Amino acid sequence: MNRPDKRPGAGETALDAATLQIHHPYEPPPGFAAVVPAVHKASTVLFRNAAALRARSWKARDGYSYGLLGTPTTYTLEERIATLEGGKHCALTPSGLSAISLVNLALLQAGDEVLLPDNVYGPSRDQAQKLLAGFGISHALYDPLQPQTLRTALSPRTRLVWIEPPGSVTMEFPDIRALVEAAHSAGTLCALDNTWGAGVAFAPFELGVDVSIHALTKYPSGGGDVLMGAVVTRDASLGERILHVHSMLGLGVAANDCEIVLRSLPTMRMRYEAHDRAARDLATWLTTHPAVRHVLHPALPGAPGHENWRSHCSAAAGLFSLQFDLQFGHAEVDRFVDALQLFGLGVSWGGPMSLAVPYDLTAMRGPKAALQGPLVRLSIGLEAVDDLRADLAQALSAAFGS
Ligand SMILES: *Cc1c(COP(=O)(O)O)cnc(C)c1O
Repeated sequence: MNRPDKRPGAGETALDAATLQIHHPYEPPPGFAAVVPAVHKASTVLFRNAAALRARSWKARDGYSYGLLGTPTTYTLEERIATLEGGKHCALTPSGLSAISLVNLALLQAGDEVLLPDNVYGPSRDQAQKLLAGFGISHALYDPLQPQTLRTALSPRTRLVWIEPPGSVTMEFPDIRALVEAAHSAGTLCALDNTWGAGVAFAPFELGVDVSIHALTKYPSGGGDVLMGAVVTRDASLGERILHVHSMLGLGVAANDCEIVLRSLPTMRMRYEAHDRAARDLATWLTTHPAVRHVLHPALPGAPGHENWRSHCSAAAGLFSLQFDLQFGHAEVDRFVDALQLFGLGVSWGGPMSLAVPYDLTAMRGPKAALQGPLVRLSIGLEAVDDLRADLAQALSAAFGS
């Protein structure tokens, strides 16, 4: 089948039936078209002859070499994610975190420094502290709401600045343009974690970033059932650098996982807007609750970095965090989380089910951070918003008596 020149003819029955299960002459008629792209599965990729095998190329996405290095299915998903993000080149990775690792390993060497916002996604900070440090790559933190602290932190050793809008858990929205400008004025590349924006809320490359990573695990998957990441670039040589390291690290993604993401992408914008509407509705309502001290949602006036959100974004993800009245400690906050009926307890987000996670900011960010103590992050799913409101109301009343 793969070598039509050597294929046994329909009338040739010299081959055993077992052999024919492997070398079957049937080929379906060409020209089949459907709404969803085909799913191609392969570790081994076959070539027509020795010359084609020797001449194989894949880096320019103009051919195939090995399943790990790309199939029609992964190329198709790469193109769609690049389009979603407004970039040109995309590498798929087995998780959002591995997309972050890929950028770090592709762009940093011993002796270099990477700068992270102090509210960065926790595992990203761990990677800098516990893995990159061992490779001779140092890191420093800056305050994303104070671009001046980034300017001060930049040194001749800085090779990469990470931007995360908004910060994980505490949701501060930075002035992305100002951070990019500070990094570029020092000749440093900027990578942005675009998981929250998802290619819907704002266009990362229009704001000047060099690399955008996206945990496809979240809204692009939309089901809470797939782990995948993407690294997107606009610049061809930067895209090549990323792809080169991607191939050496062996970062493959499964065809059936690509299939799920390809199936979910066409509805992502509508889902994002529905998550956004419900989350803003509930967040606004919660600002009036007596037990709630702060609702951390970048689209709410008064939230940290709200002005930046307004100047950059046309939408917001369905995420926000609650800080409770200071008289309440972890015990009451845990009681609130345990009393919730419709919110699942678990990390990650982007699927249909609403989720809640209790955090201890003092342990996460250290005693000098602006926000301290217990906090609950809510991810608003696709349930009816009045059911979620009633559930939150009964859990607040059970935990805080108000
Ligand atoms: C979830 C998440 C990641 C990591 O994605 P995984 O697929 O879970 O590894 C990275 N960054 C942000 C902002 C996230 O929310």
